[in-house]
Amino acid sequence: MTPFDLTPDHRRQLFDELLPQLEAYYTHTRDRRVAPKLDPQRVRDVVGQFDFSRAVPAGEAVDFVVNNLLEYQVHVPHPMYYGLYNPRTNFPSILADLIAAYFNPQLAAWSHSPFAAEVERYLIREYGKRFGYGESTIDGTFTSGGAEANLTGILCALNHRFPTFANRGYRAFGDAGPVIYCSDQAHHSVVKAARVVGLGLDSVVQLPTDAGLRLSLPALRKRLTADRAAGREVVMVIATAGTTGTASIDDLPAIAEACAEHDVWFHVDAAFGGAAVLHQDYRAWLRGIERADSIITDIHKWLSVPMGTGMFLTRHPDILDRTFRTTAEYMPREGSTLSIVDPYTHTIQWSRRFLGLRMYLSLLVFGWQGYAETIRHHVDLGNYLRERLTARGWIIENDTPLPVVCFSRPGTNDAGAFARSVCQRIVDFGEAWLSVYPVRGVDTLRAGITNYASTPEDIDRLVDLLDAAV
Ligand SMILES: *Cc1c(COP(=O)(O)O)cnc(C)c1O
Repeated sequence: MTPFDLTPDHRRQLFDELLPQLEAYYTHTRDRRVAPKLDPQRVRDVVGQFDFSRAVPAGEAVDFVVNNLLEYQVHVPHPMYYGLYNPRTNFPSILADLIAAYFNPQLAAWSHSPFAAEVERYLIREYGKRFGYGESTIDGTFTSGGAEANLTGILCALNHRFPTFANRGYRAFGDAGPVIYCSDQAHHSVVKAARVVGLGLDSVVQLPTDAGLRLSLPALRKRLTADRAAGREVVMVIATAGTTGTASIDDLPAIAEACAEHDVWFHVDAAFGGAAVLHQDYRAWLRGIERADSIITDIHKWLSVPMGTGMFLTRHPDILDRTFRTTAEYMPREGSTLSIVDPYTHTIQWSRRFLGLRMYLSLLVFGWQGYAETIRHHVDLGNYLRERLTARGWIIENDTPLPVVCFSRPGTNDAGAFARSVCQRIVDFGEAWLSVYPVRGVDTLRAGITNYASTPEDIDRLVDLLDAAV
């Protein structure tokens, strides 16, 4: 036995001490203040208490970590957290993380973890089918989140447009000035990704949005024609299905049409909104997504699993291979004669955690039906919140069927300052958390619902708190 294992008795004792604490947190999350008071020096002093020059008893170390997470974090699992697509994790997904940590499957080479690799492949195919992709064309990968997935999409689009890009890099562009389009409401991971791939910020055309904060079709068409005429290479259009700020869903069929006419890669960032395909009544909201060359969706945003679970999907079965394949002499060879895909040849990451297990175990336990019901619960709560706010005289500022509500109060002198001060007061009360987001340039209050444990009574309470904070 090595010291890192601890003894079986000691392990059991640690579990016996830890599990009740975790369970108490999970069961009684709502008894806590949602957000901590922010004091960087205090947190640094706490963290600096140990310099690792002496070993700390394991029980003490674990208590220290748990107590400080209780004290110093915004409790996103709290049912009154109306935040930024950070869910409360469901229990099977928590077990999934524990199991994955024990077995530590290596998702780089198929032969090292055939079960894990095939589970992920299966989930990619099943989710792809729900987006309307033809089964035989689906490829994809689990990612660390939406940012990595968008980066993957941009790399695929570049390799599609410039077939020598994988080898020649930016030299493959020749005189073409590649540009990518998105709306001014798109997630800024697009900008980061453009920087990472060497296109830079100036290559990202942030098109204006219409009154519903959806990518403007006339602006898209005009710019496409103009850029083509100027000899620029339009590599891709990135539509958003559920923008981060207002959950607006771009007009996917119309954008698909424009992309088809101009032979441009159509990428849909459905980081948040993608989960809507899991309820048959809501699939129509994402109509047109089946025409996307690539889609990203975050499992960790609306599907109640731990942070760090995203997904990239494409209906070009060879593009990930062309984008990422390298051969490495040190990789295991056992799979070389089998008809399998080594995950590392299709992903940015190399060694990779069994991310798919969080979704797989959740699906095994709850089924698609369980997810459909949870999605419906959130959508219903979103509608209920809109109703209650309107009844109390608030104005809804965004236009989406998704459970994100941006709202303001009529008749205030400075609407932005008003929203910021109400938000601050509510966060200071400690009973709820919400944020502020500028809609058409003016800050509004923003409440998003992604917590399956939130109830209509919680919504009532939020509306009361808002009244108290005015
Ligand atoms: C959150 C978000 C992202 C980034 O995803 P991460 O998982 O945070 O990396 C990308 N696009 C949209 C629309 C998002 O809401």
